[in-house]
Amino acid sequence: DGNSYIDYCCSWGALIHGHAHPVILQAVQQRMTKGTSFGITTEIEERLARKIVELVHSIEKVRFVSSGTEATMSAVRLARGFTHRKIIVKFDGNYHGHADSFLIKAGSGVTELAESSSAGIPKELVKYTVSLPYNELDSTREFLLNPTYRDDIAAVILEPIAGNMGVVPGKPEFIQLLRETTEKIGALLIFDEVITGFRVALGGAQSLYQTKPDLTCLGKIIGGGFPAAAFGGRAEIMDYLAPNGPVYQAGTLSGNPVAMEAGLQAIMLLQEPGFYKELERKANIITRDLPVPVKQVGSMFSLSVEPFPPFFRFLYERGIYIPPSQYESWFVSSAHQDSHLEMMRDAILEWCSQSAQLPY
Ligand code: PLP
Repeated sequence: DGNSYIDYCCSWGALIHGHAHPVILQAVQQRMTKGTSFGITTEIEERLARKIVELVHSIEKVRFVSSGTEATMSAVRLARGFTHRKIIVKFDGNYHGHADSFLIKAGSGVTELAESSSAGIPKELVKYTVSLPYNELDSTREFLLNPTYRDDIAAVILEPIAGNMGVVPGKPEFIQLLRETTEKIGALLIFDEVITGFRVALGGAQSLYQTKPDLTCLGKIIGGGFPAAAFGGRAEIMDYLAPNGPVYQAGTLSGNPVAMEAGLQAIMLLQEPGFYKELERKANIITRDLPVPVKQVGSMFSLSVEPFPPFFRFLYERGIYIPPSQYESWFVSSAHQDSHLEMMRDAILEWCSQSAQLPY
């Protein structure tokens, strides 16, 4: 509309190289001349799959889909099919996309009392989902080991570094508890790394925690700005998927060659030496010593600013676009230059010095 903005939403974290990166654009343009969709596996899909298997240490086999929602939804179906169990445990404040069974009210800790958080979802469809407090060891242990439920828990799914209630890293002892307890009760551990995959490190959050989940969901960055996502994990589990196994999953545009090309190019750019260190250095230009609480892991962070809407408008009027909710993470991309980041920092400092006097 003729205005320009410096973007720190970056398509909710997908654009780690910023908008219209020339390398990605050029490769995509070339790829498009060969056809844009075939509905079957292509060589470029295999190349991206091999790259993911090489870099994400828990993934032996991977299946592409078109959105993070499909990735988590399919991972949960696979976990239920593999374990022959029903209950899915998730955590309050974690977002796994908009599939019915995830949209349960926070704190619905007992299956019979589960209540959906959205209209249009009968309560029966969230009956086998449980939402527990994040990072709380005692209540989690208690539920997972509860004799009434433990043999019916198919999977525990979480964002190992939560990015949808501000940035909240999982406590290492929480992640460890989940790994040990799921193994003990025969449930699968699913890391939703739709945000953190290729964002916090090449190997995702699981490489930082040195933990191997059974299944991992990826999205955002692996599409290089195009619709692509994936789920993958141990071969033994992935082999339960159709057509090899009994768990149905399919998608017309899954593994779309244009999206695969963009994703592969994006990941190869991430492999340049020092990429993640440099991105964190850039993020620190904004976040160092701010007079508001900051939560940060590498290039993803969130600021606790109350009230949020006038803060959003204040930045927007200065040509800065941040995610329009305080529960979302902000993202720095390799396209941001130091001058953009300094400008952002100055704008936040200006807000802080003025906001005490504003009538909000
Ligand atoms: N999982 C996480 C952690 C997410 O942040 C999101 C989206 O923001 C999703 C899943 C769903 O992905 P999509 O919006 O591509 O369906």
